[in-house]
Amino acid sequence: MAKTNTRSRTKNGKNAKLFASAQKVIPGGVNSPVRAFKAVGAAPIFIEKAKGPFLYDAEGKRYIDYCLSWGPMILGHANKTVLDAVRKKMAAGTSYGIPTSIETELAEMIVAAIDSVDKVRLVSSGTEAVMTAIRLARGTTGRDKIIKFIGCYHGHVDHMLVQAGSGLITLGAPSSPGVPKDFTKHTVLVPYNDLKATEAAFAKYSDKIAAVIIEPIAGNMGVVPAQKPFLKGLRRLCTKNKSILIFDEVITGFRTAYGSVQPLVGVKADITTLGKIIGGGFPIGAIGGKASIMNNLSPQGSVYQAGTLSGNPVCVAAGLATLKLLKSKKPYAGLERLTKQFCSGISERLEKAGVEHTINRVGSMFTLFFSPTPVTDFASALKCDTKQYAKYFGKLLEGGVYLPPSQFEACFLSSKHTQRHIEQTLAVIDTIFVGELSVLSHKRSLN
Ligand SMILES: *Cc1c(COP(=O)(O)O)cnc(C)c1O
Repeated sequence: MAKTNTRSRTKNGKNAKLFASAQKVIPGGVNSPVRAFKAVGAAPIFIEKAKGPFLYDAEGKRYIDYCLSWGPMILGHANKTVLDAVRKKMAAGTSYGIPTSIETELAEMIVAAIDSVDKVRLVSSGTEAVMTAIRLARGTTGRDKIIKFIGCYHGHVDHMLVQAGSGLITLGAPSSPGVPKDFTKHTVLVPYNDLKATEAAFAKYSDKIAAVIIEPIAGNMGVVPAQKPFLKGLRRLCTKNKSILIFDEVITGFRTAYGSVQPLVGVKADITTLGKIIGGGFPIGAIGGKASIMNNLSPQGSVYQAGTLSGNPVCVAAGLATLKLLKSKKPYAGLERLTKQFCSGISERLEKAGVEHTINRVGSMFTLFFSPTPVTDFASALKCDTKQYAKYFGKLLEGGVYLPPSQFEACFLSSKHTQRHIEQTLAVIDTIFVGELSVLSHKRSLN
């Protein structure tokens, strides 16, 4: 059948060539592992430019982007107001290593937006924010142990690169070579959404637990919301045992609402870590919290933390412009409406095709899990058919839609996504499920 195929017109193997060159000089050809597309058994595309909801690769092909640089680009790519603010700031110099008034301005905006935050320290990445939050919690309490939930990701901090052993509560073993056992032995691992196991961990280590760290809506095992009674239970346990509750909101901060998810879940954290959106597409991270805790950071207190490029004026200008737009334009209700409609559209099509699935969504972040059962923790997330996801990812990529290249990640919408982009995406999904996938799923259900 003769069909006009834009792909064959643009496909010239350039992505593959670029990846081959990259692999010669960059380990695995990428500067962050998931970008290698290994989890979906594919080769990465190389991006040349982006605008609004679109990415454009080296072969000139356009994609509707539902990954959005892993969350930060909530206003879409290359937002004019943000770029103007950045250009203006750059012309005044790009780094001084001396205070600027805009750092105070960004801190003031964060303090005003998040009730539990009195003071803020800026750093250059989410990983750095978590690293500092943990040191601050340990320094404040004089304790060593941290409770972490299985499936949550808190950046590539040594103490957080832990894997669960067998049993409900386990002391972490390093999940990467290069992390000493002596570092992870202070990390206590507990299943997500399991209050009983957390209570047991407190019973076992009560006066040794410096902090509990959690993604209040997990985004890094796919989207998995924490249940409210569970979070309220964590709050109660932390208060009772004088431990610090850290909400890692590097993804959720300014994503589901202007500020944090703390009003939504009805729990206040002692320390909140931020990143991604607050940098407007530039490298940033932040630690915020109660003054009584934050005052322990040097130079006011004795818990050491520093950074040559911390509070970098260009990053701060991008973050400020982004937060100002989010505050004035209030895109959240619209984002939620469109995302909800998108998820219903996906669900309808999968049901029709007889493909077992679960969609978890909070605001404009969601994950389609190819799983027959609800996904409430890491163990249930692992029941997904990742081969099915790889196929889904590949077919959508072919059809001009870019999803996170792993089943265990979050999809995002931006304020530049419209009804039309959703309909175009659903039309591509339609073509998938008349084909191979539904055959696969029928086979599966026959066995
Ligand atoms: C992305 C992320 C981090 C790490 O942030 P980087 O900027 O990649 O270092 C930490 N915690 C959560 C919840 C994240 O999603």
